Amino acid sequence: MTYKDLADLIFPNAKNISYYEEKYPKRNLPEGAVVARVAPSPTGNVHIGTIYQGLIARKMADQTKGVFFVRIEDTDQKREVEDGISQIIQSLKNFDIIPDEGMTSADTEIGNYGPYKQSDRKKIYEAYAKYLIEQGKAYPCFCTPEEVEEIRKKQESAKIRPGYYGIWAKCRNITVEEAIEKIKNGEKYIIRFKSPGREDRKIKHHDIIKGNVDFPENDQDIVIIKADGLPTYHFAHAIDDHLMGTTIVTRGDEWLSSVPLHLQLFQELGFKAPKYAHTSTLLKNDDGNKRKISKRKDPEAAASYYVEEGIPSGAVKEYLLNIANSNFENWRRANPDKPINEFDFQINKMSVSGALFDMVKLLDISKIVISKMSAEEVYEKSLTWAKKYDKELEEMLSDKDYSLKVLGIERGNKKPRKDIAKWSDVKENIIYMYDDKFLNKDQEYQYQVINNKEEIEKILKLYLEKYYNENDDKDTWFNNIKELAGELGFAKEVKEFKQNPGKYSAHVGDVSTVLRIALTARINTPDMYEIMKVLGKESIAKRFEKALK
Ligand code: GLU
Repeated sequence: MTYKDLADLIFPNAKNISYYEEKYPKRNLPEGAVVARVAPSPTGNVHIGTIYQGLIARKMADQTKGVFFVRIEDTDQKREVEDGISQIIQSLKNFDIIPDEGMTSADTEIGNYGPYKQSDRKKIYEAYAKYLIEQGKAYPCFCTPEEVEEIRKKQESAKIRPGYYGIWAKCRNITVEEAIEKIKNGEKYIIRFKSPGREDRKIKHHDIIKGNVDFPENDQDIVIIKADGLPTYHFAHAIDDHLMGTTIVTRGDEWLSSVPLHLQLFQELGFKAPKYAHTSTLLKNDDGNKRKISKRKDPEAAASYYVEEGIPSGAVKEYLLNIANSNFENWRRANPDKPINEFDFQINKMSVSGALFDMVKLLDISKIVISKMSAEEVYEKSLTWAKKYDKELEEMLSDKDYSLKVLGIERGNKKPRKDIAKWSDVKENIIYMYDDKFLNKDQEYQYQVINNKEEIEKILKLYLEKYYNENDDKDTWFNNIKELAGELGFAKEVKEFKQNPGKYSAHVGDVSTVLRIALTARINTPDMYEIMKVLGKESIAKRFEKALK
């Protein structure tokens, strides 16, 4: 009896691996092209880290004329949620991270290196497991979960390194005859890798991000095919990244310690190992302590949060690049208007330790990103958001011509307004410009320096009667407010006011404030000249009337 007999008994129908090696030939790509991927598990609530990984992988592929694909790692079926795959695809799409190959929906895919969903690749894994068994590099293990647990307990009480290795690996030395007999008797088993490693030897690994790292060799006989017939992540990843031609595996650094095992698997399978780039975990500052951002505690950990809040995907990507490459900020300063795909991303410049994720900074970036958009773009994007999340805003925006004027205030000029960080800010930002919202609601007018009723009345009345002309240009408009101030005995210039303490009770700025508050019930607004232009005479009159009541 040989290993081959054992392999044939376990996987009678598995194909020879040469079939797959031919079916998935080496990719024909230019020198230096990077093939990169994201390989999330469909466990629900896509993490912002997946978007981060996807962005980096997409960027590397773009910069080198390579390929970026999405693989779904669904071999842990206990953790899978129902629409997990669609959520992943949709989230990447929401951030405009479009793969060249891979899953395009829960059950469709594109590309010649598929299937791209691990649960559809069972036959492939079986072929490679069979290949390893044939060579004596993998074996059936008959230990029950209870027995494995027993081993772990013994190791723990003896303070010995835990795991299935060396003398603890009971089934590794079972003879082929014995194994065949057990299988024929119907005993249950899983398949383990027979590690050739020794714990007292070191391996050197060069990680693209972490640099040179030394590890003890792997000596664990890890499970490669589980009781449910599906592979473990370790085994599946080696086969998939080999057959799919991945050149750089980018993944979270929680996998760094698995590198010795993975390199060993590549070696024993006869594959050339890819390069690895282990990205640092996204951290958050929690009361002075840095910790991992977690789906359980932090709403911003979920990719869906940005869509729900209406933070533009472009701003999030811009911020993620900021975290990824610290020189991005300088590049952005020097090139304020270039699209981010012109930024030369360098994976080897990513931070070795944790990357701090700061919502305040992200929102600041978002304000800048939105400030550069045209009124039309802001209109379309807030409308799309409102349709899903805010009926009242949707209704306000239904008057497109007027809304474009409102959103156009202080936009498209050298110093555009930067007061919108997300689409969910828009309503609060513009609602006072809509007469049906403003006039039909009680407003609180918090007058400042000039706050006496008679004076306010005089200002508003006289302004409308004598100093407001709908077609005035900005200089004339402002001169008129100065004249108004003068006529009512206030200083026409702030300078004059300061130079003559005691002479005036207020100055032109204070008069403007009265006009502003009467118009909007706000102390701070964008440019009042533009506001008046958009409102028009009739609305201004109604607003003054309301203020005087
Ligand atoms: N499925 C693994 C995870 O979600 C992916 C690791 C990898 O990219 O290889 O962590």
